[in-house]
Amino acid sequence: MPTEPALRVIMRRLREIMSEPAADGQERLDKIVRQIAGVMVADVCSLYLKRQDGSLELFASEGLNRTAVHTTMLKRGEGLVGRCAEMGVLINEPDASKHPAFSYRPETGEEIYHSLLAVPVQRSGQVLGVLVVQNRTVKEYSDEDAEVMQATAMVVAEHLVSGAVSGFGAGIEISKALSLVVKGEPISEGIALGHVMLHEPRIVVTKLMADDPVAELRRLEDALLELKTSLDDMLSHELLSGAGDHRDVLEAYRMFAHDRGWERRLREAVQSGLTADAAVERVQNGTRARMLRQPDPFWRERQRDLDDLSDRLLRILAGRATGFINPPEMPSDTILVARNMGPAELIDYDGTRLRGLVIEDGSGQSHVAIVAKALGIPAVGQATGLVERVTAGDAIIVDGVAGEVHVRPSSDVVNAYTDKVRFRARRQKQYEKLRDLPAVTKDGERIALQINAGLLQDMPHLAESGGDGIGLFRTELMFMLSHSLPRVDRQTEAYSAVLREAKGKPVVFRSLDIGGDKILPYLRQIPEENPAIGWRAIRMSLDRPALFRMQIRALLRAAAGQQLRIMLPMIAVATEMDEARALIDKEWALAKARGTPLPSELLIGAMIEVPSVLFELDELLPRVDFVSVGSNDLMQFLFAADRSNPRVVNRFDSLSAAPLKALKMLAGACYRHNVALTLCGEMAGRPIEAMCLIGLGFRTFSMAPASIGPVKAMIRSLDASAVTDLLDDLLVAGSGSLRAEIEAFAVRSKVEI
Ligand code: PEP
Ligand code: MG
Repeated sequence: MPTEPALRVIMRRLREIMSEPAADGQERLDKIVRQIAGVMVADVCSLYLKRQDGSLELFASEGLNRTAVHTTMLKRGEGLVGRCAEMGVLINEPDASKHPAFSYRPETGEEIYHSLLAVPVQRSGQVLGVLVVQNRTVKEYSDEDAEVMQATAMVVAEHLVSGAVSGFGAGIEISKALSLVVKGEPISEGIALGHVMLHEPRIVVTKLMADDPVAELRRLEDALLELKTSLDDMLSHELLSGAGDHRDVLEAYRMFAHDRGWERRLREAVQSGLTADAAVERVQNGTRARMLRQPDPFWRERQRDLDDLSDRLLRILAGRATGFINPPEMPSDTILVARNMGPAELIDYDGTRLRGLVIEDGSGQSHVAIVAKALGIPAVGQATGLVERVTAGDAIIVDGVAGEVHVRPSSDVVNAYTDKVRFRARRQKQYEKLRDLPAVTKDGERIALQINAGLLQDMPHLAESGGDGIGLFRTELMFMLSHSLPRVDRQTEAYSAVLREAKGKPVVFRSLDIGGDKILPYLRQIPEENPAIGWRAIRMSLDRPALFRMQIRALLRAAAGQQLRIMLPMIAVATEMDEARALIDKEWALAKARGTPLPSELLIGAMIEVPSVLFELDELLPRVDFVSVGSNDLMQFLFAADRSNPRVVNRFDSLSAAPLKALKMLAGACYRHNVALTLCGEMAGRPIEAMCLIGLGFRTFSMAPASIGPVKAMIRSLDASAVTDLLDDLLVAGSGSLRAEIEAFAVRSKVEI
């Protein structure tokens, strides 16, 4: 068993080299490769480091010609070593020179060596370079050799990053990891520059070598047991309650946690001299390299599971498995980076320090995106693999326009973005100039533009944007923020404050829309297979009238002496309006009997979000004072495409014949029944879509405050009758997406979109 001694010897020698005084970086690197070559019985040991442009420079070598050091450069991906760095994978070639990818460099004198073992030197998922051993004989290196090299590479990476071998001054600043661009999807408009804060901070392993391997093995075994027990516990609960997606994920976790191969690799890594924590990271890196080589996306998903599991195990080892992980001090320009996140979690962060958000999952219609938009925080979703590649405190730019994330950007990129931010601020100023101008089309149609809100903090946006009122106040956000159920008094206070801040402009309060991805921590909810079409919104209110009546009571009190507008979410059949109205009437009667001052007027509306009501409009419309289209939900149900699932969300275009015909039919029915019509989903805030809606007969919209400027600019450059004619024509024969024709019209007619 050569493994344990070999690694331990290398580690001891590395430690000695690092503690020697006065040696400069280059001298240390030279000593390191000499030691590794000696212990590995290799003819050559070389260290290549990555330069800013992605090329590799030979930085130290024992065995190759000394003159090649700092002379030999490999282009990005060139040769076996380049490939090792590019893909972050181990390469074990018995006869490297025969390999088609081999790149022969005469200056190195390496033609006499046949076998090659190359491992990436990586830290926090960043490849910093490549550590290579070569031998004259043709041979395949053993698994033990590979393990030793990988563990050594990890320690070398640690020393490089910590600056212990810096100062060799050859144009590479190792401690600064490379910049990186990740492409995702814009989910909340805007650009932000700041510094990374991880939503669930990864544990950074600092102690790599174990002082007492036996004790370390015990720590690992204990942690594994705790991990497995906690997963089994969770799963047995989930099984009892028959949860869906969540269970699949847990099953996958459990599969890994019980995977003998995983455990064996962890144990071996500890036996080779690493701490249990370092072993988890080592095995995670190794498995990642293997999985990411698989073309099948299934393996990438599994990689994510394994990453989560490794994080959990690291937290257990660090003694932080249970209880809340105290978020470290938030930088004043925090860009939050998360694998996934619910809307409530986002709200929990200090909004004054939050500049931007990046999530690995998440689509533009998910509630976390809506909350980000409401808070005016630029955000990018679907930034795959980002969490593993950033470290807390890294400089980062979120481009919520192009859907890009720049990590550790170069000064050129920072300058370009600073310019962009300035340009956007100038444009914002131009929108501000529009603020007091009416939203009237060129042919004189007045369009009402209202804003969506959900928190008291949103209220100043009303005056800033020049909105005509609050077209959608999502009351559940306040409930989500609270750690216990807000009682009537607290609710009354909050709604009164909203009305006060609205200064006489109309406010539409939507009754609680809980369920789906909006969870109240203090309300026990039974997990459901399909929460979006489950027990949520008005369904819950009608089944649990106490909660609904509490809210109505507070609203009636808050709006004493003034107009009160209440909107009911997820109405699926017209008679649900009767049931809800009966509950509201009861509260009204109760207040009256108690002599509580009442609102001067009460308007009750329905949200059009469930397709069934589109076919019951003649029954629904006489029962309501107004309707508002929740296009986020309506689109997801019309197309049967989960609004929070990035895989399906962009598959269907809201500017397609089917939904446009449905909306046109609705506009016609509202006109006939003389019922006010609004649209308050994300569609309203996109100028091209708002333009189309005007063509269908909509005259009132409610949107994120930042969208008012761009939509008003569009309206003021539009001829409403022309877009009406266009849609009349398009909807006669059109099918599928009509976006191209609609965009062509906008360009032709010089509409500002
Ligand atoms: C909608 O569904 O379009 C809507 C406005 O409601 P929410 O996004 O809160 O579900
Ligand atoms: Mg909705």
